[in-house]
Amino acid sequence: MAGVFDIDLETEDVSDTEDDVCDFTVTEPENVQTEEVELTSEIVNRDSERVGPDCFELLTVLGKGAYGKVFQVRKVQGLQIGKIFAMKVLKKAKIVRNAKDTAHTRAEREILETVRHPFIVDLLYAFQTGGKLYLILECLSGGELFMQLEKEGIFMEDTACFYLGEITLALGHLHSNGIIYRDLKPENIMLNHQGHIKLTDFGLCKESIHDGSVTHTFCGTIEYMAPEILTRSGHNRAVDWWSLGALMYDMMTGSPPFTAENRKKTIDKILKCKLNLPPYLTIDARELIKKLLKKNPAQRLGSGKADAADIQKHSFFKQINWDDLLNKRVEPPYKPQLHSEEDVSQFDTRFTRQTPVDSPDDSRLSHSAELAFAGFTYVAPSVLESLKEGFSFEPKSRHMRRHNSSPHTPISPLKFSPAGPFKAALDGEPDLFSPTSPPAAQPFVPPENGVSQPIKTPARNKKQKMRR
Ligand code: ATP
Ligand code: MG
Repeated sequence: MAGVFDIDLETEDVSDTEDDVCDFTVTEPENVQTEEVELTSEIVNRDSERVGPDCFELLTVLGKGAYGKVFQVRKVQGLQIGKIFAMKVLKKAKIVRNAKDTAHTRAEREILETVRHPFIVDLLYAFQTGGKLYLILECLSGGELFMQLEKEGIFMEDTACFYLGEITLALGHLHSNGIIYRDLKPENIMLNHQGHIKLTDFGLCKESIHDGSVTHTFCGTIEYMAPEILTRSGHNRAVDWWSLGALMYDMMTGSPPFTAENRKKTIDKILKCKLNLPPYLTIDARELIKKLLKKNPAQRLGSGKADAADIQKHSFFKQINWDDLLNKRVEPPYKPQLHSEEDVSQFDTRFTRQTPVDSPDDSRLSHSAELAFAGFTYVAPSVLESLKEGFSFEPKSRHMRRHNSSPHTPISPLKFSPAGPFKAALDGEPDLFSPTSPPAAQPFVPPENGVSQPIKTPARNKKQKMRR
């Protein structure tokens, strides 16, 4: 984001007084000469923020991805010093083995740059070394929604309604930006420290889905996947509404709607089996699930032009004030029990007990491979905004401090960035069964009578083990 700011060439020396703790407030002298300076990430980075691995202290391992690890880190240099983030590290060598993966990685970076929404993870910085790519994200200390679902077994309807409502708003926003999420499943839905939803993991998103166009890429986790992805008959944004239906079913019954002992049988069930709805669901819930899990995408709720708005109107959501929900004025059903900003109790101890190590990798890729990562470096507009504050010589406040406030303020819905065209092309079809495809959920054995019970079932625990 570029902006033009007036910077004084001559400034008066102003010393601090007891009342005036500001160490760089400058009053404007008369006849001041000004020069217009364009503020761009290049200028800012050159002089003030050269962001790299050294700026971050590793604290804990939070998770593992297909291409590397996610760490909790503390910023130890420059702006936002002391602040906690999540650092997703991806190994270039692993990514370049598959051209499609390179495109996915670029897409994740570009999507996160473009999309700003209260229920989508914020990207603060992106940078690279010879061998690795780094994404610095807001740290979602509430952990995965999956963990909460594991603890509860199933969610009560009003709890499910809250989460599904926030997810619907996030998906609607992605769609309006021309992005299909495609990988909606409990593991990719995280909670922030307040308990609000945050969608993460944009490695499998697909852009350019504006009406009329259909994509042909095959990826995601099969239990939540729409039939038209599995049959490779081309798909559009309606796939996300199928996944929302599968997630809703999972939240309210304890397992996804179509499961079997192996991937092939699961696919068969998704394509052919009739939906089995347990009797304890309310009429509204049953009806919404049925409308979202329509095998024919053209008949699916949300597939029309209105997209998310059609789902929001459904009577299952009748209690929701959408404006309040979007503005986070609705209290989340569970507030993560956290004792500090660094608290990682909501994450799997399989990861958090590991010693955090990010070995330096300055290996060089071939020139052509390296080109794939050109332009990866990024500083969020919110960070640039904070620099603009720092550069401002307007005598607006005599109490401005150097690091007095987080520039990472929540973004009001009125200020969402408009849709921007994406540069990375994502063609090709990752093979569902190829070893380079991201790991998919493992099969889950349904209860014998085919109907899940509204209690903490051992099946949920079994599913957790099998999914991981
Ligand atoms: P990819 O296919 O891009 O490799 P992945 O599933 O392997 O994706 P992510 O889902 O992005 O990688 O991250 C892996 C795990 O790290 C998550 O499941 C989550 O537990 C943790 N994690 C990711 N992002 C954050 C974040 N912003 N804050 C806290 N934890 C995170
Ligand atoms: Mg993931």
